[in-house]
Amino acid sequence: MEKSSYNPFTNAQAQFDKVASFIGLDEATCDLLRQPLKEHHVLIPVCMDDGKMKIFKGFRVLHNDARGPAKGGIRFHPQETADTVRALAMWMTWKCAVVDIPLGGGKGGVICDPHNLSEREQERLCRGWVRQLSKEMGPYIDAPAPDVMTTAKHMLWMLDEFETIHGGRYPGFITGKPVGMGGSTGRTEATGFGAIYVLREALKDLQIKLEETSLSVQGFGNVAQYAAKMFTELGGKVVAVACWDNEDKVSYTYQKKEGLSMNMLLEITDSFGCINKKKAAAAGCKILPGEEWIEQDVDILMPAALENQITAKNVNKISKQVKVLLEGANGPTTTDADDIIKERGIFLLPDFLANAGGVTCSYFEQVQSNLNYYWEKEEVLEKLDTKMTSAYRAVYDLAKKKNLYMRDAAYVIAINRVAQAVKMRGWA
Ligand code: GLU
Repeated sequence: MEKSSYNPFTNAQAQFDKVASFIGLDEATCDLLRQPLKEHHVLIPVCMDDGKMKIFKGFRVLHNDARGPAKGGIRFHPQETADTVRALAMWMTWKCAVVDIPLGGGKGGVICDPHNLSEREQERLCRGWVRQLSKEMGPYIDAPAPDVMTTAKHMLWMLDEFETIHGGRYPGFITGKPVGMGGSTGRTEATGFGAIYVLREALKDLQIKLEETSLSVQGFGNVAQYAAKMFTELGGKVVAVACWDNEDKVSYTYQKKEGLSMNMLLEITDSFGCINKKKAAAAGCKILPGEEWIEQDVDILMPAALENQITAKNVNKISKQVKVLLEGANGPTTTDADDIIKERGIFLLPDFLANAGGVTCSYFEQVQSNLNYYWEKEEVLEKLDTKMTSAYRAVYDLAKKKNLYMRDAAYVIAINRVAQAVKMRGWA
């Protein structure tokens, strides 16, 4: 991730301000929506395996809960900052609103690198984060979920700690739990699959056959893995995947022009989405510098790693062949790069629409957890497809009708919904 002076919260606010003035939002609503309602900064003491105590820093930000309890992931990342969490919480509000689920936006983070923590240390960290925030979160207040470098296993430890503190069973407290332990079938696949449902619809509108397209994806964590899997199953060709190499501490792009086999790649990928370089080379992948994922001659580019990846510096490296930018990550494109994407006429599937499949399925998971009655995977995925498809349709139709950029159209829908809820509650 490029550090420089980039601030994702400033980016999120700039996106909001532009659309707020376009739709003529009043001052009080603007003031309320351009910053978080609440935020918590905590210190988490963890007893490490060597017996020494280490203090970690964590956050939970609730951006807005006018439409329902806040919802959003918890990230483990060494470069986590309060402003990153603020931006991500804000994007969660728009995400839930654009797919029209009755939830607000929240996000959490802990500054840590789980690669360097043992299983037990990770467990203590998860429990410690919940302990510090157990009064601020809950199934009807704010419910976490997996995100960057957190998994179903972490969610269950967090749930167990929450239930121990509150003395009961509250499976709706957290989503992304293991299936059989309160998790929903399809949740693991949901974000990646959801992105491809949206892409499928967009390609129909662009009159492009998915089975004739190629994709380059940045990241190979949960989102990228399932998106790439479904994309290849539908007949598309994944020619490049970029990801972090934890041994060399750099990222690489793994390329195969005739198409990468997802089964082969998944077999040589660890639980944090790092591909084994030696095994990839042995399997015939060309190994290029990490940043080259963006320069590939493909039809679709999918940033599915972190924020701030497509910037003024590299946006001009995007090949002329690229027709669609599918944002799997949250906030991957900076405002200045966004202007160029728009100018070039690359069709954008904006992050908070394209990656809303995860939280949509989390909503289904909460419903199932609260009822203690679980649906078959087919039913979950069908409901997910319906939600994602109709959200895409609404954004596309508005963009067409008002001649808006897809990101702006998605914002108009989301901000209007949240603004209406805020007004109806008498908050602005
Ligand atoms: N972390 C995911 C996101 O950014 C999912 C959030 C959730 O399921 O609550 O959308």
